Amino acid sequence: MPDDTLLIDDDDRYSRLRLIAWWDQQKLSRARVLVVGAGALGNEVLKNLALLGVGTAYVVDFDHIEESNLTRSVLFRHRDCGRPKAEAAAAAISDINPDTRVKPMLANIMTEVGLGMFRDVDVVIGCLDNREARLWVNRQCWKVGTPWIDGGIQEINGVVKVFTPPDSACYECAMTENDYRLINLRYSCPLLRQEDLQAGKVPTAPTISSMIGGLQVQEALKLLHGMPVDAGCATVYNGISNQVYKTAFQRREDCLSHETYPTPLALEISAREHTAEQLFAAIRDRSQVSGTLQLALDRDLVVNIACQQCGTSQPIMRPLQEVSMQEAVCPQCGQTCRPELVHAVDGGSELAGKRLIELGVPPYDVVRVESNEGEHVYLLAADRGSVMNV
Ligand SMILES: [Zn+2]
Ligand SMILES: [Zn+2]
Repeated sequence: MPDDTLLIDDDDRYSRLRLIAWWDQQKLSRARVLVVGAGALGNEVLKNLALLGVGTAYVVDFDHIEESNLTRSVLFRHRDCGRPKAEAAAAAISDINPDTRVKPMLANIMTEVGLGMFRDVDVVIGCLDNREARLWVNRQCWKVGTPWIDGGIQEINGVVKVFTPPDSACYECAMTENDYRLINLRYSCPLLRQEDLQAGKVPTAPTISSMIGGLQVQEALKLLHGMPVDAGCATVYNGISNQVYKTAFQRREDCLSHETYPTPLALEISAREHTAEQLFAAIRDRSQVSGTLQLALDRDLVVNIACQQCGTSQPIMRPLQEVSMQEAVCPQCGQTCRPELVHAVDGGSELAGKRLIELGVPPYDVVRVESNEGEHVYLLAADRGSVMNV
């Protein structure tokens, strides 16, 4: 007769995992994980989340599959070429494990994903190929206190970094002068985004993406189980020499990423349906505020692009991060135009009559509104179902 404790139920998909002493499959089935990027790393991370039976995964990626992605993307097939990466990855995940609910989001993480999503998930896994998006994810995670795990790969080398707000060192604490310079290069005069030639073109082998994606998910497993992690540390793997080392980042007290939000007041306001004026009215209904209300825009809004040479002006109404240099070329005279930026919207102004989404506020965001009583934060809770339901 076998010992009871060693009895394995072979009909239970997770029976072998449950044999790990600290394992809690229930915790995993209840977990919600946001995966940012469905490229080489994102594929490996999502594959692992599905094998482990993690309950819900949100996948954010606005790219489409190209033939050259197939050498390092276990979830994609030749027939998927041209399909959105997030969508093909989600379909493959459901096939691997129907227990894992997955929501594909064809979106720009910086401009189209509300802070409410960062707030509602248990952990964010960054599978990104650029510093700007990492910096954005870092700041969002800090505001709402959600841990995040960054992964980076190049050729056959890789690195995993774990950050746990509010106390650990963060991604920006570890940024060097050179990192800042490279981010600013993309925003040369007049402040618009240069076409990013190298994004996604870093050479990588599928072997390193599976190693780093594996490490990222292992760190996520520890976080989900409440086990200790090396917060504010990087684990660096050199694939040529097979050396692995850990390095702890110094927390910088003057770092710009450490802003944390108080618990936001939830309002039945939707970014898609309601205007800034309606948001202000809902705030006055619910709380004691006085004076003119002002909505702070977390994403600078390009209202229009005006040519100083010939006076031609074109309306834009999109966040700065989405406007490229090419759009700033004057259709009349070919001069490079200057964008007119707005950082805040006052009650009673013309812009306040616009729907929030037209002001660059994504659905289910947390917005900052200033009154005579100071600044308060509000969750656009009417968008919760459409954003979070799978
Ligand atoms: Zn920091
Ligand atoms: Zn012109």
